[in-house]
Amino acid sequence: MFVAGTGPRGDRCAMTIQLAVVGAGPRGVGFLERLAANLPQLAAGLPLVVHLVDPHPPGGGRIWRREQSALLKLNSTAADVTMFTDGSSTIDGPVAPGPSLIEWAEEVRRGSIALPVDDPALLGEIADLAPASFPTRRLQSEYLAWFYRRAVAGLPAAVVEHAASVVRVDDRADDAQLVTLDTGVTLVVDVVLYALGHTGSAPEPEHARLGEFAARHGLRYVAPAFTADADLAAIPAGEPVIVRGMGLAAVDLTVLLTEGRGGRFVPSASFDGQLDYLPSGREPRLHLGSRRGVPYHSKIGSSLAAPVAARRFFSADIAARLEASSDTLSFRRHVWPLIAAQLQWGYYHELFVGHPESVRVPWRDFAPVLERHLDDRRPHDAARLRAAVEAAVPNPVDRLDLDLLDRPFAGYRASSRAELQDAVREYIRTDLHLRSAPQHSATLALFTALLYSLFDLGSIVDSPKWTAASRAVDLGRDWLGYFSFIASGPPAHRLDELLALSRAGVVGFLGPDVAVVAERGGFTASSPAAPGEVRACVLVDARLPTTSARTSDNPALRSLIETGAGVEEHVSDETFSGSTGRLVVRRGDARLITPDGAAHPRRFAIGPYTNAPFVGAFSRPRTDAVSFRENDRVARAVLSLSVALSALPAAGGDAGDTSLESVGHRGVA
Ligand SMILES: Cc1cc2nc3c(=O)[nH]c(=O)nc-3n(C[C@H](O)[C@H](O)[C@H](O)COP(=O)(O)OP(=O)(O)OC[C@H]3O[C@@H](n4cnc5c(N)ncnc54)[C@H](O)[C@@H]3O)c2cc1C
Repeated sequence: MFVAGTGPRGDRCAMTIQLAVVGAGPRGVGFLERLAANLPQLAAGLPLVVHLVDPHPPGGGRIWRREQSALLKLNSTAADVTMFTDGSSTIDGPVAPGPSLIEWAEEVRRGSIALPVDDPALLGEIADLAPASFPTRRLQSEYLAWFYRRAVAGLPAAVVEHAASVVRVDDRADDAQLVTLDTGVTLVVDVVLYALGHTGSAPEPEHARLGEFAARHGLRYVAPAFTADADLAAIPAGEPVIVRGMGLAAVDLTVLLTEGRGGRFVPSASFDGQLDYLPSGREPRLHLGSRRGVPYHSKIGSSLAAPVAARRFFSADIAARLEASSDTLSFRRHVWPLIAAQLQWGYYHELFVGHPESVRVPWRDFAPVLERHLDDRRPHDAARLRAAVEAAVPNPVDRLDLDLLDRPFAGYRASSRAELQDAVREYIRTDLHLRSAPQHSATLALFTALLYSLFDLGSIVDSPKWTAASRAVDLGRDWLGYFSFIASGPPAHRLDELLALSRAGVVGFLGPDVAVVAERGGFTASSPAAPGEVRACVLVDARLPTTSARTSDNPALRSLIETGAGVEEHVSDETFSGSTGRLVVRRGDARLITPDGAAHPRRFAIGPYTNAPFVGAFSRPRTDAVSFRENDRVARAVLSLSVALSALPAAGGDAGDTSLESVGHRGVA
């Protein structure tokens, strides 16, 4: 048990190991679950105290806290989110299965999980939740809080919650770690695990300039931010607002400034299955634009009619062989053509096998033609392939054009802004149809192929052979951006709502390649796709802040760089040189890497701000999720280190004041 006033390894309790976990969001508490699962095997009997530090309640943490608008939703379905390892998990520690989000809701409904919640909205949501529902973030908060309570109950260690932020951590001469909280309290611990999650950053030069311009002219500028935390109250009703970005942050923004201001969606009076928007009069006029000029593709509502296609062009094995046989790896040159081929293979397999009525020849005839064209490694721009597809697939909407899918309004020119509005609305309607109608389930096959490609690419993403540009730009930014645009867009109902808002005149579309200029005492937005411009006194950059450890607004992260305990990832070769902004951690156990390339003896870091690949989303059941593997490895490494430290002779010195009375703790399990 924790003893008040105990220092690290010892001063009053020789064997106790003190571990600080900084951040109690999904990754921090996921790590605790793995700590509990592995402790009996690796460190049975080890007296361990875990200090869990987060200003927000553990489980949900900041992003998934309960205190946020009930209108904001998870972007994953209830069946697609789990916090538990399962039979697919390739981990060294024990698998400890548990319910996915939908299974948890079912258990709550059955009464086998008791939930200390009396909020009627949440209880109503649990009662109605289906596997394909997109739950509210507040419901996810309850699942995560329950998961946390369960993890702590299974952890043979004391857990002390500190409702505070870590400002910095310093190395003591005897290697103990001094953790300074913003309350002025200092914890002295043996080991630190950072699970800081998403952090903001100091304004980039362009954002600082726009902010200064806005301040000078009495305008409003909202820089990239977490939409739930942004100050939107100051955006006046009825005013035009230019919104740069049409991704998920723009969806959240639109929800908060419309329904969040009292507007309502109702079934359309024309009984055509559409929604109408009834304004409250308090909404601003939102003008949405971006590079693509359209929202992310809708989530898919159909089911596959044929078995999933074989991974003929890209798989983990193919990726491994490619990696082994290449001196350098370029995502664009070596990998993307294979993924593009696999996407087309998966798509057309479903179209031809699942919907023979939509094509002119059977799959057994078309497959060899497709295979031959795709094998030439220049698949998606090959004119001959296009001709073969046109001959076999009569309906143009059934033909897959990867370039068009990515940039649907490239080169588009409207003669008026009204025409542009019609065109974007028509595009959204078609997208919704293609992604929900059973006869277009090939869009689901495309999604599946893309998802598998993401997983399969994960097996070589750590290779040292990647070119610098591939590592910094292609893999870290563009590929994930492409994946999100195609496969991680909003639920269909959000696009139905966007259409209703557009018809109601509350939302307008600016077009692709939107350019915003700060001039003549206002902001002006224009696009080559339509004549004219939109003037506004409010500009919102609707996207998350860019990751940058060096300029993070999180002092704990920034001070890692400033004190030399950690280092930002820098990549360079003969053609590219730059920083990814991410903190370097050692593959395998997520130890911090110091500027001299050594592994920090006492600190570990997990999550989206590190250079560990692809761990920025919730895990799907039965997918051998990367973050579970990493959590397990790190928990085992922390336990092994703890056991080794507990065997060292006790160090003397000032242990700092870590008494329970002094740290403002929330409780001891
Ligand atoms: C707005 C948003 C929406 C998302 N929606 C989805 C979705 O729908 N589906 C999906 O799969 N993924 C989604 N994601 C991806 C997201 O990465 C994961 O869902 C998850 O939040 C990551 O967990 P984490 O613990 O690493 O980070 P976070 O959730 O960010 O948690 C980190 C925690 O660390 C705490 N912390 C940070 N600094 C300190 C400090 N100095 N001292 C103490 N505590 C600190 C924070 O308060 C926070 O609670 C979303 C991400 C964002 C930002």
